[in-house]
Amino acid sequence: MQTLNLIGASWSPADSGRTFVVHNPATDEVVAEVPLCMGPETRRAIEAAEAVRSDFERSEVADRVAMLRKISLLMEERKETLAKLITLEQGKPLSEALTEVTYARGFYEVAADEAPHCVGDTHLGEAVPGKEVLLQPAPVGVTASIIPWNFPVALLAKKLAPALAVGCPQILKPAEETPLVALEFAQLCLDAGVPLGVVSVLTGSPEAIGGEMLSNPYVRKISFTGSTEVGRFLRKNAGPHLPQLTLELGGHAPFIVMEGCDLDSAVAGALAAKFRNGGQACISPNRFLVEASIHDEFVERLCVATAGLTVGNGMESGVDIGPLVNDATVEKVEQHVADALEQGAECLLGGERVHIPGLADRFFAPTILTRCGPEMLCFQEETFGPVCPVRAVADEREALQVANDSNFGLAGFLWAGDRDQALRMSKELEVGIVGAHDASPAQPQVPFGGVKQSGWGREGGKHALEEFAPVKTISIGL
Ligand code: NAP
Repeated sequence: MQTLNLIGASWSPADSGRTFVVHNPATDEVVAEVPLCMGPETRRAIEAAEAVRSDFERSEVADRVAMLRKISLLMEERKETLAKLITLEQGKPLSEALTEVTYARGFYEVAADEAPHCVGDTHLGEAVPGKEVLLQPAPVGVTASIIPWNFPVALLAKKLAPALAVGCPQILKPAEETPLVALEFAQLCLDAGVPLGVVSVLTGSPEAIGGEMLSNPYVRKISFTGSTEVGRFLRKNAGPHLPQLTLELGGHAPFIVMEGCDLDSAVAGALAAKFRNGGQACISPNRFLVEASIHDEFVERLCVATAGLTVGNGMESGVDIGPLVNDATVEKVEQHVADALEQGAECLLGGERVHIPGLADRFFAPTILTRCGPEMLCFQEETFGPVCPVRAVADEREALQVANDSNFGLAGFLWAGDRDQALRMSKELEVGIVGAHDASPAQPQVPFGGVKQSGWGREGGKHALEEFAPVKTISIGL
């Protein structure tokens, strides 16, 4: 297991020699210690990236495509190792961790597919009379990315794959909870032939590492995934050299179920979307809005299906829901449930921690609350846990009105009576991505990102590459 940081060309400890401890959230065991890096180490990584930037930008696209394919191949070969690290430090069931690695591979494959199309010049012909105009995608330069703990390999892939595809070096900061899999990935990049200096991975103080990323003029773009609160901080504190920001922030997804839909499919979709990673996903449904005529039947079926889920240590087979990642996350879930119950919600299933002998006290039972409403915390902000708050709505109009009554707009889910209703309602939802009869809409081939306070910019598909290589317009007078 790699526990040093990749800073430019070398594996290094923090300058101070200080470390911080990584815990297994299921058992509280110490997994490893990793460097507590600060600003100076970050500056050296950025300078190393700047030193190789020009060569990397000018490298042949075919070589970068081969490198991306090799990364994908090594991920397949090492998927067990990567998945075990994810489960050890983050807690999700091993089967889900393996799915995450496969999902993450898709971003390298898509970047490899798209790279040749995203680097060539586009001739606009005589779009402007008397001029020849062409558009040249120009790599933005040195980039930085900041990643949360909930999908530590997939979210890293969303940022690194498009950067490598267009020729941008990147300095990555993983979350405090999940540094080990990112360090393992740094080694995988080197093994895949990524030139030294192109990728650095630093663990340590978010303020110091992030502060250097924000203020260093060599950093031309910062891609952040995490909370809206930290996204706001980054926007406010971006340095005078104005680095471009991509902000993938918090969500608060509605899950709408309309009369006439396939209820079996809706329940299966609800289970898949809600309990993925124990509800610790930015697109996790946070408000179930069910047409009144089918409310009771949907809730009954959801309760039966949810009661069959097994909570436990993600390392053990047969587990569907692992621990929540840290104490603060469990406490927030408890607070949301208590607040809903105080304000009149009814708890039909779960509602409390599950105490498992010999394990940490971070397991929360899959929970179903009915009679929920906009006055409750769970209807105002993301819970980030295995809780389904349900509300009956009169019709399509009320479903959309409640769904859009939010400052967030990342994802929305919808099970409609027919395709026309699905399309009509999808177009009215104020979100960046809709899963209509689809619990997994965020695939590597398609753009993904938020509106409102869920952020700026798009990841996935060719759009991701375009964000790392905005077009330069060349206008030649004839
Ligand atoms: P977070 O607290 O915002 O942390 C995310 C990352 O930002 C971590 O690496 C963290 O480092 C770092 N960070 C914290 N303070 C910073 C600062 N002042 N300067 C620079 N970096 C800083 O988010 P989280 O609670 O870990 O993650 C959950 C949130 O992410 C949820 O809101 C979820 O919806 C959102 N999310 C969004 C998407 C999306 O695509 N839109 C995807 C996944 C998750 P440390 O860990 O070292 O503190």
